[in-house]
Amino acid sequence: MPITKSDKQVDINKRRIINGVDADVIQLYPMRHIFAWDAYNTGNANHWLPTEIGMQKDIEQWRSPTALTPEERQAFETVLGFFTTADSIAANNVVLAIYKHITSPECRMYLLRQGYEEAIHTHAYQYIVESLGMDEGRIFNMYRTVSAIYNKDNLVLSLNEGIFDPYFKTGTFESDQKFLENLIVFSVILEGIFFYSSFAVMFGFQRQNKLVGSAEQIQYIMRDESQHLNFGINMINTIKQEQPELWTKEFETKMINLMRRGVVLEYTYAKEVFPRGIFGMNAQGFKHYIEHIADRRLESIGLPTQYHVDNPFPWMSEAVDLSKEKNFFETRVTEYKVGGTLEW
Ligand code: FE
Repeated sequence: MPITKSDKQVDINKRRIINGVDADVIQLYPMRHIFAWDAYNTGNANHWLPTEIGMQKDIEQWRSPTALTPEERQAFETVLGFFTTADSIAANNVVLAIYKHITSPECRMYLLRQGYEEAIHTHAYQYIVESLGMDEGRIFNMYRTVSAIYNKDNLVLSLNEGIFDPYFKTGTFESDQKFLENLIVFSVILEGIFFYSSFAVMFGFQRQNKLVGSAEQIQYIMRDESQHLNFGINMINTIKQEQPELWTKEFETKMINLMRRGVVLEYTYAKEVFPRGIFGMNAQGFKHYIEHIADRRLESIGLPTQYHVDNPFPWMSEAVDLSKEKNFFETRVTEYKVGGTLEW
């Protein structure tokens, strides 16, 4: 078929996160979802690699019979065990499920970046496990052996099953709601709640000057993850504006109940994997912390808050805020160069 000459531009008003003009090519202009382009640029500016971070002090402490308590070792291993599965679930969601249904080219650009970042995170866990000479099979298999990890993973996997179906298509009320539900489960519950007691534990290590290389890796990951969460929230809120009919009272109630289930799974995880508490954080502290951040997540997508508790770990919000600033990572050994300054 000959190419028919057409000067017709894509109508910006037909740009949608889902159900927009057919995204058979990434035609970036006219750009509508500026937040996605901003997120893409921020992601590039924050680029990092696990191998840039020195692990020597961690190796010495891990080998030393006295530098870490048995509880600290167990907590560290379990946190790694959770992280390894969580980031691979995230990568699969982005690449195998979400990307395909997104019709906004700039959102697809960011999803490509996000998928790569999930791979970098998995690389970071591999690098920690290898540097410290840990039992990699045991760590990477923990979602099968630790029920508190399995239960969290299972919530995400079972709810997201529908959009992995090769016949799943957006475009009907039911399937669009299902897609929106998947985004909320993925971005807000997995990326916005399920990482956070583990992040808190890693900051505990850092505050004690223990396993600081690993803790720094996790800081970089937390910085990326807070971007993923923001991007997810922006997509959810934009779909809500573009297709307001999806956001019914029943849908709201269902999402609030899912969030509440996620919160219980997360503080149960903290209670089970740190049974005697750790670094001064106990079961009650974790519960309130998770409830506190769940309220922030609910607010961010326009849902009513549920818990109204004070943040028992105020230093965590500082850590999250600080890690958004570019110059926070002073120990970084490599500066990324813009293409033009590279010598060939
Ligand atoms: Fe992520």
